[in-house]
Amino acid sequence: MATDLQIAARKVASVNPATGEVLRELECAGEGEVEAAVARARAAQAAWAELGLRRRIAVLREFQGKLYAKKSEVATAITREVGKPVVEALVTEVLVVLDAARFLIDNAWGLLRDEPVPHGNLVTKLKSGWLVREPHGVIGIISPWNYPFSIPATETLAALVAGNAVVLKPSELTPLVALELASLLHAAGVPEDVFQLVVGEGPAGAALLRSPIDKLVFTGSVATGKRIAAAAAERLLPVVLELGGKDPMLVLDDADVDVASSAAVWGAFVNAGQACLSVERCYVHRSLYESFAKACAEKTKQLRVGNGMDSHTDVGPMIQERQVRIVESHVEDAKARGARVLAGGTRLPQLGINFYAPTVLADVTQEMRIMREETFGPVLPVMACADDDEAVRLANDSEYGLAASVWTRDRMRGERLARRIHAGTVMVNDVISCFGISEAPHGGVKASGVGRTHGRFGLDEMVRVKYLDMDRMPGMKKVWWHGYGESFRRQMEGFLDMQFARGWGTRLRGALRAAGVVRRKQL
Ligand code: NAD
Repeated sequence: MATDLQIAARKVASVNPATGEVLRELECAGEGEVEAAVARARAAQAAWAELGLRRRIAVLREFQGKLYAKKSEVATAITREVGKPVVEALVTEVLVVLDAARFLIDNAWGLLRDEPVPHGNLVTKLKSGWLVREPHGVIGIISPWNYPFSIPATETLAALVAGNAVVLKPSELTPLVALELASLLHAAGVPEDVFQLVVGEGPAGAALLRSPIDKLVFTGSVATGKRIAAAAAERLLPVVLELGGKDPMLVLDDADVDVASSAAVWGAFVNAGQACLSVERCYVHRSLYESFAKACAEKTKQLRVGNGMDSHTDVGPMIQERQVRIVESHVEDAKARGARVLAGGTRLPQLGINFYAPTVLADVTQEMRIMREETFGPVLPVMACADDDEAVRLANDSEYGLAASVWTRDRMRGERLARRIHAGTVMVNDVISCFGISEAPHGGVKASGVGRTHGRFGLDEMVRVKYLDMDRMPGMKKVWWHGYGESFRRQMEGFLDMQFARGWGTRLRGALRAAGVVRRKQL
């Protein structure tokens, strides 16, 4: 284990991926600092929970107002640290968070308040039941760099409104956006100890995982997610894991080629292809294959690649050169195995070391790395398929299961296919936008993760459910308590007959036998 000193001595540098400019250096939190942050969060959480739901909702409303007022500033800060065009930062991050706040402001009361549980069994009719949703306590959040604002913010807002304190470990590549989030939350009235940041690389995340948090919400790669799940299992720490994807797009023979190709291009190249929900595999019916691939290539060639600060830029840089190398290796593997490059296929060194040309590949096969491993970059691989069944089979032939899309003019056919695809979300005639629907749960199946964020299911992850049982007859002994005997056995058989026998005669006889139970002598 690394010592405190080793970790604390490290710094992370926030770098503008478009220019290479170092924006700021920050000290990494050591093990002791992470533990201290969690201890402060624990101490502050009780008062935050006691504040009550209505007042926490009011704080969210305040946060929403402050974010709205600073929308352009926040979007610019995101672009500076991640590279995406400012308008994308505005739409896929700031708007998503404003709307997540709207969802919680409108719905948290209804979704978190105590809920009566009517009892169906006659034996328990004399008791009333309630579901009480309690905060877990301190929630640790570990987040990635690709959506450095919308991912931690949506998770944090749900955790906070439910009465938890939060300690967030943002990606080491995007600490400045996390600082923006912290300053907005604190300005809105969230106490400093109720929302804290711990900055650092993997070891700071591992320290958060080892600290006495009550739940961890992790978003990142499958490899890190598996390490987290193993460590969490050791102490039975509940976790939500939002992991990688290899989302397929199925273009059926009746699809609108113009619309579907525009969707494929946006779905593959938004955020330079660095979205967990990116279109990473495209299966197109043979009859449309050539025209679809050609349309994608033509549209891709029109994309303007550059610094996201320029309002004309469609596609910005990738986050770092290491990520470019992964993309390059996937494209080279595909080319070596016979894929055709219809657009792009190279780095763009004249723009900077992190730029890779939006790339369309045709004639790919299911065995290529580009169709099996998460590429997380600006590549759209297109493959022909024979029919709907083959498209579904290929879509499901993946270790991932985050989202998928089906493209057809026939809604019923689209829905039928959607039901057969193994994924957390399937969109018919759209890509990626499900992430921006605050009511919709977000999460995957298979290696793409465990649990959900967003919407009511995301809010459920932030509470533990306590069942509150209230007996209406405190002066009465329960019939099933001690004082057994042959007649009690017969009475209980009668009681079961009365409730569950198929024939009315048996039910009636059962009721008469069971009635004797009221005269039973009990201890
Ligand atoms: P990553 O797994 O490298 O890092 C994610 C976070 O985990 C970072 O904050 C990192 O510092 C931290 N971390 C690294 N090692 C750790 C350890 N041993 N213990 C605890 N924390 C540790 O992922 P990334 O490169 O930042 O993000 C890209 C990945 O995230 C892609 O696979 C993408 O698909 C996935 N992702 C998933 C979703 C989703 O909602 N399903 C959303 C966005 C990104």
